This record gives sequence, C-alpha cells and structure tokens, in this order.
Amino acid sequence: MNNVKVLLTSTSFQDTPGQHHDLLAKTGYTVERLRGPLSKQEMLAQVASYDALLCGDDVIDREVIDVGRTGRLKVISKYGVGLDKLDAAYARSVGIPTTNCPGVNHTTVAEHVMALLLAYNRNIHLHSQETRNNEWKRYTGNEIRGSVLGIIGFGAIGRAVATLAQAFGCFIHYYDPFTPKSATMEASIEQHGELGSLLAVSDLLTLHIPLNDQTRGLVDRHFLNQMKKGSLLVNTSRGEIVNNTALIEALDAGHLRGYLCDVLEHEPMLPNHPLAHRTDVIITPHIGSRTHQSVVRQGSMAVENLVASFHSLGLQRS
Ligand code: NAD
Repeated sequence: MNNVKVLLTSTSFQDTPGQHHDLLAKTGYTVERLRGPLSKQEMLAQVASYDALLCGDDVIDREVIDVGRTGRLKVISKYGVGLDKLDAAYARSVGIPTTNCPGVNHTTVAEHVMALLLAYNRNIHLHSQETRNNEWKRYTGNEIRGSVLGIIGFGAIGRAVATLAQAFGCFIHYYDPFTPKSATMEASIEQHGELGSLLAVSDLLTLHIPLNDQTRGLVDRHFLNQMKKGSLLVNTSRGEIVNNTALIEALDAGHLRGYLCDVLEHEPMLPNHPLAHRTDVIITPHIGSRTHQSVVRQGSMAVENLVASFHSLGLQRS
C-alpha cells in the first residue's frame, strides 16, 4: 500500500529520543505530527485525512471514528495503556484494528509512585524549592517502612508497586474484585473483599484502576471519609477518578495528609487550578510512564502494532 499517511500526536513519543523513531521511519509511511492530546474538535478536523492514528490521550470517540471512516481512517495504534479517551470497542466493531501497549510501562509508573511517596514523606518538594530561594528550613520527615500500602487495582502497575514497596518494608493490602489472590502471590499480601476495609487500614493509598463508568468520581466524600485519618493518597491513574471538591475538603480538614498525583481531570493543567499551590499536594504533569526506557518500549510497540494492523487488513507497504 503506497502513501500511508499517519498522524502522530503523542508528545511522549515525539520528545524522547530512541529507536522507536527509527522503527517508524523504516515503515516508509508519511508521518505528520501534532502536539496532543487533541480535543474532540481538533480530532474531528484531522481524522479523515489519515490512514492511521498513532495517538496518545486524544479524544477519539464514536463520532471521531465515524468521521474518520468517511475519509481514510483504517488503523488506530494507541501509545500507552489507558483507553478511557478512545472507544476501542467501537472502532474494532466497525472494522478498524485498534491497539494499545499493555505490559511495557508498569515498572516506570511504579517507580514514579515510589518517587512521589518518598519525596512527600521527606518533604523534598518543599526543601528543594526553599534551598533554591536561599532558605535553610528543615522539616522532619516520615519513614514509609512499616506503613500499610493499600493498592486499588492489582493489575500490571499495582503489582509492580507492591514489589517495590515490599522492598521498602511496607505491608501490602489490595482491593481488586477482578483479581483474586493467586497461589503465586506472596502470603503476606492481603486482599480485601470490600473497598471500605482497605480504606480503613491504609496509611498510604494508591490508585491503579482504569477510568470507566464505575471508577469516574470513585474518590468522593464518602470514600475519603472512610480513609484512615492522616493517610496519603496517590493517583497516577486518571484525574477524573477523584472529585476535587471532596478532596480539598479532606485536605483542609487534615483528614488526608496529602495528595500526590500525576494526572488531572483536564490536561494540561488549567490556570489557577485549586490544587496547584498547596504544600500538601504534589502534581507532576502526566509523566508517570515517561522514562527513556519506557518510552522506547511503548513507542516501539505502538509502531509494531501499527504495522501489524495494516498487515491484518492485507494492506502492506509495497
Ligand atoms: P491493568 O489493566 O493491568 O490493571 C488494572 C486493574 O484494575 C485490573 O487488575 C482490574 O481488575 C482492576 N480494576 C478495574 N476496575 C476496578 C475497580 N472498580 N476496583 C478495583 N479494581 C479494579 O492496568 P495498568 O497497566 O495497571 O494501568 C492502570 C491505569 O493506570 C490505566 O488504566 C491508566 O489509566 C493508568 N496509567 C497511567 C499512566 C501515567 O503515565 N500516569 C501510565 C500508564 C497507565
């Protein structure tokens, strides 16, 4: 197939050097680049002009897919894991092979969770800022050894966090109704059948669930009230899982000791975001899976998926 046109929107892919660029160049496809994530309106304006999307967290819902089908769209390859902005089931149902990249970024995201936990517990976010301002204030930190780490969602990332946190001496508890405790899991890992009982015992709580109709707004006032007083919440999943109004109430009341997140309900962060200037919050700009090692793995997989999808349609580069 000649003149395959690909729209590449993932900035993580674009901005990180590595062999994924060579792999993409070797396909011989014509690649055009935009800086994602693109809004629905932006996608609607672009989608019909391309044979394939090599996308990130752009909005690709039914309408976008249908507009794409009226034009050239044949294949969608998502760089990354989360499918909350991409209606993959619909795309596949209308004959557009659609892939993502599971199983290649869990180590990197898990290391980011540990980085957030350790940074916050040792006040590194404050100390770093203050020494830059020529100040020498010293805060007393906390160890994480001996803490109960509660994990909601015991999939690829949740398990990788468990492995790292065990090495730091944390006790691992998890809630995931779809992942029963298996014989290969360590005896010391405790599964909870009820979310509330996990919330009640966790000193540190980390979210590793997909965003969907069941998890949107899961962390609301009721959820936060059930959390142990003085506990910490980590969110590297999706911003929409947490209700910010309830979160701020819990932080202001001191019920929650801090909120450490890599994701927001709207990305990039909007001006004057109510969490932006709080000392009990750390926000990183959705870079949980962005390491040189992980980007190359994800980028290469996304390109290989793209090529394999064209092959599956019997469309190969001539
Ligand atoms: P995964 O599919 O391997 O694991 C998700 C787990 O959540 C599964 O075990 C599933 O059974 C469980 N689950 C689903 N609904 C649940 C619920 N209501 N309650 C409890 N458990 C539930 O996915 P993963 O690779 O571990 O990624 C998890 C999420 O992390 C992704 O969906 C994505 O949103 C996010 N993510 C973020 C980044 C980042 O850069 N910050 C990178 C990768 C993934």
